[in-house]
Amino acid sequence: TDLSHIRNFSIVAHIDHGKSTLADRLIQSTGTVQDRDMKEQLLDAMDIERERGITIKANTVRIDYVADDGRKYVLNLIDTPGHVDFAYEVSRSMRAVEGSLLVVDSTQGVEAQTLANVYQAIDADHEIVPVLNKIDLPAADCERVAEQIEDVIGIDASGAIQVSAKTGIGIHETLEAIVKLLPPPQGERDAPLKAMLVDSWYDAYLGVIVLVRIIDGVLKKGDRIRMMHNDSIHHVDRIGVFRPPMQTVDELGPGEIGFLTASIKQVRDTRVGDTITHEKKGADKALPGFKPSQPVVFCGLFPVDNAEFEDLRDAIEKLALNDASFSFEMETSAALGFGFRCGFLGLLHLEVIRDRIEREYDIDLITTAPSVIYNVHMRDGEMIELHNPADMPDLTHVDHIEEPRIKATILVPDEFLGDVLKLCQDRRGIQMDLTYAGSRAMVVYDLPLNEVVFDFYDRLKSVTKGYASFDYQMIGYRQDHLVKMQILVNDEPVDALSTMVHRDRAETRGRAMVEKLKDLIPRHMFKIPIQAAIGGRIIARETLAALRKDVTAKCYGGDATRKKKLLEKQKAGKKKMRQFGKVDIPQEAFINALKMD
Ligand code: GDP
Ligand code: MG
Repeated sequence: TDLSHIRNFSIVAHIDHGKSTLADRLIQSTGTVQDRDMKEQLLDAMDIERERGITIKANTVRIDYVADDGRKYVLNLIDTPGHVDFAYEVSRSMRAVEGSLLVVDSTQGVEAQTLANVYQAIDADHEIVPVLNKIDLPAADCERVAEQIEDVIGIDASGAIQVSAKTGIGIHETLEAIVKLLPPPQGERDAPLKAMLVDSWYDAYLGVIVLVRIIDGVLKKGDRIRMMHNDSIHHVDRIGVFRPPMQTVDELGPGEIGFLTASIKQVRDTRVGDTITHEKKGADKALPGFKPSQPVVFCGLFPVDNAEFEDLRDAIEKLALNDASFSFEMETSAALGFGFRCGFLGLLHLEVIRDRIEREYDIDLITTAPSVIYNVHMRDGEMIELHNPADMPDLTHVDHIEEPRIKATILVPDEFLGDVLKLCQDRRGIQMDLTYAGSRAMVVYDLPLNEVVFDFYDRLKSVTKGYASFDYQMIGYRQDHLVKMQILVNDEPVDALSTMVHRDRAETRGRAMVEKLKDLIPRHMFKIPIQAAIGGRIIARETLAALRKDVTAKCYGGDATRKKKLLEKQKAGKKKMRQFGKVDIPQEAFINALKMD
């Protein structure tokens, strides 16, 4: 059969370099969508994604294009998530296509995410077409950026297309380059079915929708299919393509990208990267390289109001239905009551889920300190995966502890290099590499993931005035001198504030935390000691003085309305607090106490 008219591609770019705008423009210029149906940024579906300007779920669109050679082509664009948390999903979507447009903002140049994503494309053997975007801006410097692409990435950029996704310059050239430079897919129509599961999501009407790339064979409506990772059998009730509205088709053949529905109830029952085949006469070997994505960051989510626990359970279960990489189990905390220990692919993933619970389900949450998974090796030879510092076993039984490390790549203008090196050093980093490309430095550090999950990215942005870019990958576990630090408020341990820290940093961290908490906890009618401890030993201490008098009476004397307002404010604030023994601790204290300056 003839696959020569199909082109499958993705767009790789650093955030804000114009990936979504370019995708929209390609779709619009081929008349795939009527102009009046064209919403800004068609491919970014969820509200939160739109607000944050990031793409989280892979998405796809089929574009019909009549090229200058007079032939009709089918172009399938898979939009990939741009954030490090979703690196595994990026790598799977890359394997579903043959080529990539590498979009670089011609006023900015190559950034860390550009590198991470383009290396994924290179790993997937893609043909890569460089696209220099935003040439309508006066600061555009195509020559410099093309040179940088060659220097830093090592691909030929002499034929880079100069584009303005905003005004439409270069869009025709881009479409022609896709047709001329990217290879068509290959595949055997008569071979047993092999379809790669690229993505899946839940739809209220259709159930789980599964995005597939057909490698070999043909998928038809009514087929009985088998998911190879768990041998589950499903009956296909619908297949189709995205234009971007869903359009049903009779079959999907080799090289094609489309969706199926099969009365699958939960996204959990599908696994990105899995191979789908027919129940009968199926393929005997799955596609190589399948590995489900694993949560790496854990934290506790507790309702501020204990009465909302069941609502929280409901929200978490619903969100989990649609997100196989989000894990949860019930947790009880002496201080916080009933809640959930949740696992995420990274911090952004955590924030997105937390935001959705607060926003879509209207539940106020206490988020405990994010933690990574520690390998705790016991004296008796057993190894425990520690997801929660509160579960740390008694030290007398522990032989040693290992923590996950990452390889972090940071690109930064020269003038901020000193600050970046200091930040990495402060976070127990080991420098692996330092090179220059023009006036920008590329530093590679081996860092403990634990030191990065919290506020590393925020700090990096602030010390470099937003000019640094950052990306990382896990490199494995290594032993270090780690201890559990507890915080005692009014002599009671608050387990939600327990953290694992390096022994050498414990005093500094402990002091910083108790000082912060002193500001974050409001004064009470009695004085409150706030302490940091390792085992039974106090390593830092502050005392929050008692309130002397009725503040409202003193400050506002006779002004009744102001007094009332103040009391109302206090009441509203109270709602967001939790009582620990006799002490009220505001919700934001749990996160803010951990931020390091
Ligand atoms: P993404 O994060 O890579 O998907 O980037 P977006 O497509 O969301 O674009 C980021 C910002 O750059 C938006 O404000 C766009 O309007 C703007 N933008 C994208 N392409 C161009 C362009 O060609 N010229 C100009 N001037 N702005 C652009
Ligand atoms: Mg985007």
